[in-house]
Amino acid sequence: MQGFEGEQRRRYILHRRREAQVRSLKIKAALIDNEGVLKCEVPRCGFDFGATYGELGKEFAHVHHLKPLSEAPPEGRRVKLNELAIVCPNCHAMIHRGGQCRPLVGLIPSP
Ligand SMILES: [Zn+2]
Ligand SMILES: [Zn+2]
Repeated sequence: MQGFEGEQRRRYILHRRREAQVRSLKIKAALIDNEGVLKCEVPRCGFDFGATYGELGKEFAHVHHLKPLSEAPPEGRRVKLNELAIVCPNCHAMIHRGGQCRPLVGLIPSP
């Protein structure tokens, strides 16, 4: 059981490491598009780092691949910015919970 959990964690870290390479590009583009505001793109979330954390939260967000990186060849692939989404850490963890890659729509259920 320990080994199984360890494997899931390793995959998640690898995934996040790949995302870090394009993270700053996506954040810069989103800042220009939204006039300096970064909000989680998960419907019904919309967490705004700047609004909550002020100066500390400025220009911070997680960046998520909408197309799972597990489908990419080991050497990697080109990523378009519209294949990426700005997400908050809570939503990002829920998207990948259990080693999955869930769609943004429906992640937070309607009341
Ligand atoms: Zn992700
Ligand atoms: Zn969120």
